[in-house]
Amino acid sequence: MNKFTYSYPTKVYFGKGSAKDALTQELNQYGDTVLLAYGGGSIKKNGIYEEILELLKESNKTVIEFAGIMSNPTYKKVQEGVKIVKEHEIDFILAVGGGSVIDCCKVISAQSLLDEDIWEMEYIKGKFPTDGIPMGAIVTVSGTGAEMNGGAVITHEEKKWKGGIFATTPTFAVLDPTYTMSVPRTQVLSGAFDTLSHAMETYFGNSDQDNVSDDVALAIMKNTVDNMLRLLTDIHDEQARGNLMWDSAMAENGILKCGRQTDFQVHQIEHQLAAYTDCNHGQGLAIIQPRYYRYILDHAREKLTKLARVVFNEDTAEKGLDALDDLIKECGLPTKLNDLSSTMKITPELLKQVADTTNIIQSNPYTLSKHEVHEILLECM
Ligand SMILES: [Zn+2]
Repeated sequence: MNKFTYSYPTKVYFGKGSAKDALTQELNQYGDTVLLAYGGGSIKKNGIYEEILELLKESNKTVIEFAGIMSNPTYKKVQEGVKIVKEHEIDFILAVGGGSVIDCCKVISAQSLLDEDIWEMEYIKGKFPTDGIPMGAIVTVSGTGAEMNGGAVITHEEKKWKGGIFATTPTFAVLDPTYTMSVPRTQVLSGAFDTLSHAMETYFGNSDQDNVSDDVALAIMKNTVDNMLRLLTDIHDEQARGNLMWDSAMAENGILKCGRQTDFQVHQIEHQLAAYTDCNHGQGLAIIQPRYYRYILDHAREKLTKLARVVFNEDTAEKGLDALDDLIKECGLPTKLNDLSSTMKITPELLKQVADTTNIIQSNPYTLSKHEVHEILLECM
């Protein structure tokens, strides 16, 4: 294990009815004006919106709404939120949704207290924010684990770039599996695949062998796969949705990353693919991930074999990757780039632009060249 410091600032409220527990216990610490942020309005159809609004009213809060946060939230949307926060002197931001809503709010929170542009500050000057408007997250779509850390993924449309911004960590997170019950099958399984990818990409980062973080990552991967399969039998299985919700949180609360480096090369490729195509995150990963691991197989054989054994009950790396392919197909996730919903036609030339702008990771079993990223993407067509 490498040297590390671990601190966990987010209080988690898990289980049915936990939004009420969280809001009644947490909100009295903050001022009266709350920004209620959400996405496309599905929370208005499943009753969650009314429930949260009622709880905020019971806490005597003045509620300002910020709606329409899109999947792959944009830098422009962040600026829109910052304007509202400043205009209404917001005391607390409550993000209700999935990773997109939560990530957008994390950056709104940090940017609202800065005099300079956060993207320029982080990417040009290498400085990071130390403060933000306090925020909480109520998760209605799980998978990204966004509620558990201060990292956000934002699409900067003008720069044709999608990537991480270090911003505000939620002070509390509500994980109520019943809040995910109306999320459609494809979205649930795409989210679960994102969780699997987070644990897998952490596990494949360079580290000394057989450390405890590897073993925890393998356990999260196994539980994620088992519960994805369980949902194929009964999509309304509340126990399975709850397990996946906690898997998602565990994969991104930093515990798997203790004492080790991480890989995340597949995430870097998918982020740039989405910067050009606005594709679904979990679905993009499901297409790229198996090709990437086949490409680096000879450099990661030992770890892939262990993963095959623990997660898929297979005895070779190759059979483990076949099982990963089977899982993707059984879940009905796309297997080729042209199956993705995309704002642009996906051509070899477009994929060259994606490859050329992909961030290359140095802490994985094999460091790819941009040309090799392009080769992997062409195999995904
Ligand atoms: Zn992800």
